[in-house]
Amino acid sequence: MNLPIEPIFIYIFAFILGSIFGSFACCQAWRIHAKTENKELGSRSVCMSCNKKLKWYDNIPIISWLILRGKCRNCKEKIGVLEIFSEISLGLVFLGISAFFEITFWPILAIAAMIYWILLIYDAKWGELPVFLMLLTLFPAILFQIFSSPNFLGIGLSVAFLAGIYYLLFFFSKEKLVGSGDWILCLSIAIFLGNFSFALIELFLANFLATLYAAPMTIIKKTHKLSFGPFLIISLFIILFFKDWINTYILFF
Ligand SMILES: [Zn+2]
Repeated sequence: MNLPIEPIFIYIFAFILGSIFGSFACCQAWRIHAKTENKELGSRSVCMSCNKKLKWYDNIPIISWLILRGKCRNCKEKIGVLEIFSEISLGLVFLGISAFFEITFWPILAIAAMIYWILLIYDAKWGELPVFLMLLTLFPAILFQIFSSPNFLGIGLSVAFLAGIYYLLFFFSKEKLVGSGDWILCLSIAIFLGNFSFALIELFLANFLATLYAAPMTIIKKTHKLSFGPFLIISLFIILFFKDWINTYILFF
């Protein structure tokens, strides 16, 4: 079997494309947040502190951030670690999509990743999840299942378990433990996962990652409200990519 193009070139291309989308996801998060404050951002990228329009060469994903060491060329204000995190991580996710999935799934998963990453940035920055974006992720989730011979009982259990737990946590803790939107986010994540075992692993993995992240944070600053959305989203993609591995080595029963 000879692929028309060497896989390595596909992976490099996927990573670059993903990092461009990662940069775009950040801009979209800012744009949506600006709208909630009735501000309108210009059509081109500007520095968030001095409002100077960015030159094209200061707008190259990952590379520009590294050259400028995360600071604006004009006002030297910090751009933020989230920007480069978004570019690298979405680059890796796009790479993962092309490495672990057939080409028919690429558009569905790329669009889903794109929307999830706007949510991830938004939640990490402002601790909220825009509801219309969460509802939007339901479309790729449902399409994904339609294309992969769905197990309706599995999907039902996954949704009931994951969205159910987060709804109950939200309801009984009065938003102290989890945010009000987390259970809506869990709806599409649970549909993507498509079975109870994966939903269970999602819950463990997201909590594990959040604990890893939060442990040093709680030492640095005592009060810290942790946004849970990013961990749920990252866990979803880890499970989707390592599905076969999980099925072989963890869910062997
Ligand atoms: Zn600036």
